[in-house]
Amino acid sequence: MPLTPRSDGRIRIAPEVLHTVGPHSLSRLYDQREHTEMVCFLCGGVIAPEDATEAQVVVFKAPDKETILVKISHPRCMPSCVLERPLPALAQEWSLDWVAVLRSHAISAVLVWEMHSTLHHGNSPADMEDVFAERLRGEGFRGATDRLDDLVAPVLRRWSIRLRDDCLVLHHPSGDVDEFAGARAVVPPGWLDAARDSTRVLAVYGSGFGLDRLLRSRLDQVLQAGDAVCGLIPWSSGSPSASSHR
Ligand SMILES: [Zn+2]
Repeated sequence: MPLTPRSDGRIRIAPEVLHTVGPHSLSRLYDQREHTEMVCFLCGGVIAPEDATEAQVVVFKAPDKETILVKISHPRCMPSCVLERPLPALAQEWSLDWVAVLRSHAISAVLVWEMHSTLHHGNSPADMEDVFAERLRGEGFRGATDRLDDLVAPVLRRWSIRLRDDCLVLHHPSGDVDEFAGARAVVPPGWLDAARDSTRVLAVYGSGFGLDRLLRSRLDQVLQAGDAVCGLIPWSSGSPSASSHR
């Protein structure tokens, strides 16, 4: 098989990737794309043979080693490229830290979250956090530039957020969900009422908030530095089981 960059709607091999992966590995990747489920290394989502998505071939090349690692991703998660750094934590090795706060604003219910690697403690993988933020930007989130009480964010009509059991569930337009567990213990009094009444929740994603012991001043500092993204998510209240009691 000739070694050529490939981007045919099924699988994408960037030219730089071509020079790091041998022909044998490439033909195996082509074969896998047609016949087996691949898993996006970033979000953990499956890319099935019948899916229309163009699987991206991403190569990790540890700077101090000869070894490379070939991974697959969604186009929205990471385009085909060579990354000169060790393999980041896998999707299932990320955990989500979150808080719910109220602010002085007509839309007062706020959800703030950040991602942490459960494997790489104290070793903040900033590049990966940017990827999470980038993905949210691609789905309508905007860079935050103001303190929390003054923060203006676009309304994201294709998103929704709801309370399901003890979990706040954020529905992405792509069909993905983020789950914020333990909500009843975490949300402050009045938060759920505020979300219901204003029919919106301000969602803020970023890194460096230090959410395990959140200080409002720290939150404002990160927001004003432009290191976070935000959006207004429609609140979806009620469920079929709740309405059946009426
Ligand atoms: Zn993905």
